[in-house]
Amino acid sequence: GGAILAAGPAADAATLNTALHQLVDELKPMPAEVEGRTQAFELVQAVLLARWPEAKVHVFGSSANNLSICNNNDVDMTLELQHLPDAPGAKAAVVEEMGRLFMQAGVKDVLLLPKARVPVVKLVAPTTNTRIDLTVNNLLAIVNTKLLRDYSVIDPRLAQLVFVVKHWAKRRQVNDAYRGTLSSYCYVLMCIAHLQHRSPPILPCLQALPPTHIRTIGRWNCDYHDQVEGLRGYGAGNTETLGDLVWSFFEFWAWRHDFNNSVVTIRTTTPVSKAEKEWTKRVGNERHLVSIEDPFELSHDLGRTMDRQTTSVLHKEFERAAGLLRDDPEPLPKLLEPYRA
Ligand code: ATP
Ligand code: MG
Repeated sequence: GGAILAAGPAADAATLNTALHQLVDELKPMPAEVEGRTQAFELVQAVLLARWPEAKVHVFGSSANNLSICNNNDVDMTLELQHLPDAPGAKAAVVEEMGRLFMQAGVKDVLLLPKARVPVVKLVAPTTNTRIDLTVNNLLAIVNTKLLRDYSVIDPRLAQLVFVVKHWAKRRQVNDAYRGTLSSYCYVLMCIAHLQHRSPPILPCLQALPPTHIRTIGRWNCDYHDQVEGLRGYGAGNTETLGDLVWSFFEFWAWRHDFNNSVVTIRTTTPVSKAEKEWTKRVGNERHLVSIEDPFELSHDLGRTMDRQTTSVLHKEFERAAGLLRDDPEPLPKLLEPYRA
């Protein structure tokens, strides 16, 4: 029964909460790291605008959404080109040309992946060692980054919870989409969904409010309410602390979420089932064992990288975390202990 599972953490609530806030402070990126990303952006922008003066270079992902933790020297950027044909191979050709431009500019670490699902060039900024992932016309990523940033403005508890969860996921090695676990982006969406479902809610559902940001990208409607200044304090009626939220987050994913039938979504607070999305059968390598709906690209199940083995690993990690919080009076050292195979 749920009543027993929900008994609550073994730790003293105030002590746990203070320790978590201290951790969040330690996870904030240092000014030097932020400066390194800014310099990397300026380098990329200078090289690309010399070749495409009409284009725009955007930073997206955690460097642009207030949700980045320290020691993550990665920055995601995309080149926005107005008149790129939709033809397959068009982005790959631009990626190859960008690679040449950076090599000519003296950047030594340039890796081209033009055939990837999202063609990308990876480079390392020479002075700061910042790792850059550069794509072309990744317009959905620009908008979903803005959506996440807008959510982060509404209530500070979102960024705090995200910091703890990202740090936990990296330490426990369940934050690598290439190895079949979940991307940071997925964890952020899970945190937003969690705060939307608290009672009373801590976050609204911005896609369910009257839209003020109107945008369509390809066939995807990206409208949502982006006047978030007016929503600051939306969650004030909910007094849960970071400690409470970390507990309920892990407890939910360990013991309550119905992985078999339901879809994680932030687009609506109405439950969404795998059945209605037709995410019930394996198609090729897409298994839909853990389903997380992209907020805009609705056909995209962000959890499709998970297989049986990684799903079981992830579920055990959620159970381990929830169990430690429930039973251990001082749970953080073990909760965040690096995973050893
Ligand atoms: P970290 O701080 O660990 O780098 P992050 O917040 O930058 O995490 P990533 O998983 O690196 O998150 O993703 C960066 C951005 O790329 C996301 O904010 C999102 O805009 C975009 N993105 C990542 N994965 C996907 C995906 N599968 N589909 C669509 N957009 C994605
Ligand atoms: Mg990133």
